[in-house]
Amino acid sequence: MSLTIPPQSQDHQPGVEGKMTPPAIHIRPGYKGSGKLTGKKALITGGDSGIGRAAALHFAREGADVAIIYLEEHEDAQETARLIEAEGRKAVLIAGDVASSSFCNEAVEKAVSDLGGLDILVNNAGVQYVSLDLTDITDEVWQRHMDVNINGYFYITRAALKHLNSGASIISTSSINAFAGNKSLVAYTTTKSAEMGFTRALALQLAGKKIRVNAVAPGPVWTPLQPASWGPVDPEAVANLGKDTPMERCGEPCELGPAYVYLASDDSSYVTGQTLHVNGGMIING
Ligand code: NAD
Ligand code: MG
Repeated sequence: MSLTIPPQSQDHQPGVEGKMTPPAIHIRPGYKGSGKLTGKKALITGGDSGIGRAAALHFAREGADVAIIYLEEHEDAQETARLIEAEGRKAVLIAGDVASSSFCNEAVEKAVSDLGGLDILVNNAGVQYVSLDLTDITDEVWQRHMDVNINGYFYITRAALKHLNSGASIISTSSINAFAGNKSLVAYTTTKSAEMGFTRALALQLAGKKIRVNAVAPGPVWTPLQPASWGPVDPEAVANLGKDTPMERCGEPCELGPAYVYLASDDSSYVTGQTLHVNGGMIING
């Protein structure tokens, strides 16, 4: 994989795939499914684009039907649905704000009813606003991080739990920043660390029910979140994404998808409360 990214910005969050140069790769054309998720039903928040779309397409190629929740990016969501259906699987699209507990309750019920059950939940919808100084973070920006990145994971998981049975898998998208910190992302890093605590505690609570709970902690990945969060502050930072990793590049979403397949499938049947670090070689103590 090699990727040259010109400086760029998107002025609205969530960002969209169509404005990214170059376009991201969500699944390697040569990725061969082997039925690891045949007949499974998955719900992915933020599944319209980026890492969530990668998880959705890999799940579909492995035989799962997939429902995705997204905020408002209808074009991206429809493209993801088209790609899921091209794998011969069912796609369900649900638009709305995971900061609302009532929306989360309704969205989970719709997903379960349209899919006919639920086996895999991926909490992945997130926001990230850059602030170089703590005193620049307004109450509203701080609260939005908490509402989407923490409360959203809780509301969706609480609503999903009654539908999950023995063998089910819950996966959270956290971040390298939960382990390494990020001086320009204090609010975001706080939420990503909370997601780790949520994952570890819930894994212990659900182990007896044979429901596994794990996390993926991506390093820098080429998704709409990058130009939409760093772009307005520093378009050059977008061009330099990942150059400070040992591999000296950012990841493509297609390099994350297989980690979600591993954690969703019986391949990881003895793994719970753990984190997969897909980050270009950064060694972190977690
Ligand atoms: P992305 O913009 O493609 O995905 C984020 C998605 O979250 C959006 O598609 C959007 O629909 C959804 N979303 C945002 N606010 C929402 C809300 N209020 N209600 C419902 N949905 C909402 O970007 P991505 O990078 O693929 O982000 C996915 C996850 O990966 C996030 O949790 C992010 O923190 C995490 N992450 C990303 C990177 C990276 O480098 N891209 C690194 C580490 C972690
Ligand atoms: Mg999106």
